[in-house]
Amino acid sequence: MPRPIHAVIHQPALANNLDVVRRCAPQSRAWAVVKANAYGHGIRRAFAGLRAADGFGLLDLNEAVLMRELGWQGPILLLEGFFQPQDVPLLEQYRLTTSVHCEEQLRMLEVARPKGPLAIQLKLNTGMNRLGFRPDQYRAAWERARTLSCVGSIVHMTHFSDADSARGIAHQLAVFDATTANLPGEASLSNSAATLWHPQAHRAWVRPGVVLYGGSPTGHAADVASFGLQPAMSLHSELISVQDLQPGDTVGYGSLFKAERPMRIGVVACGYADGYPRHAAGWGDKPAPVLVDGVRTRLVGRVSMDMICVDLTPCPKARVGSAVTLWGQGLPIDDVAEASGTVGYELMCALAPRVPVTVATLTAPEQQALA
Ligand SMILES: *Cc1c(COP(=O)(O)O)cnc(C)c1O
Repeated sequence: MPRPIHAVIHQPALANNLDVVRRCAPQSRAWAVVKANAYGHGIRRAFAGLRAADGFGLLDLNEAVLMRELGWQGPILLLEGFFQPQDVPLLEQYRLTTSVHCEEQLRMLEVARPKGPLAIQLKLNTGMNRLGFRPDQYRAAWERARTLSCVGSIVHMTHFSDADSARGIAHQLAVFDATTANLPGEASLSNSAATLWHPQAHRAWVRPGVVLYGGSPTGHAADVASFGLQPAMSLHSELISVQDLQPGDTVGYGSLFKAERPMRIGVVACGYADGYPRHAAGWGDKPAPVLVDGVRTRLVGRVSMDMICVDLTPCPKARVGSAVTLWGQGLPIDDVAEASGTVGYELMCALAPRVPVTVATLTAPEQQALA
């Protein structure tokens, strides 16, 4: 028997979450962002659930090639563009839309002189200060791109730093609108947070990522509870041992949890080598939640490489073999992330290769409806 841990990728949840995006931004086309191997879900597994998207956004040329091998004929956007001169011919070969965010990329296009026509998304740095031309350089960059014979279309693109928080997007949107005023071309601005909460930034294209997987852009599950998102990844395991503790007994490395009363704990086949966050709290008043036989309980002690321990007080019938849900299906991944000082994004992406994955597929009629 294999170790009982396994993950499930839920294709119907992906399709549902894309529908949620459609309802939030009905006038926009949607790039489904599938970078980082579809946020840890696996591009191959996620594709069937997301194929009703208008395009796919990703980072890695290999991921783009994989999308073509899976049969995707529509647009693919390289969110960071290309990295080397030798990447330029691949843009044509695989019909990739590319972000162009810096002088060096413009120069590579000028030197390589591909035949085209290439679709590019020219990136404006409106305040994130990561990628993009500064506002005072943007129009000159746009002129240069426009005069390249290989460039067929130019979309104006930017990225928000605070669409998920009180600071909001107004300051960046003002820079964007002032800088692109009177320039022809569509716009692409909104990540998941702006897609949910800032309709004034939807424009021609939205670029949702984490909400497609059922995660919250803010890291707090409650913030997206009203949208009808469903978890696209669930992580499951079983109890492999049960211990009875006496008052004063401690649990795990560092003895960070100490029993104050007699209690039963269960040992779960899941640890940080599976992608469960080592910083999840198993002590204090905000411990990480875990479901045992569907009952919400708490982590006790420090997460080890291959095991965690859980309090069985609320589930007295639990025994070796009882089902454990680490996240998804009744336990938002962001709740676990919050108790670990991070966001659901990181936990999804960190699912370890040693965890076996199964896919909950769409029914044949559902697949046909999306194809
Ligand atoms: C990752 C990414 C997104 C998606 O972000 P989410 O917060 O997951 O929606 C959108 N645009 C760009 C440029 C990105 O890199």
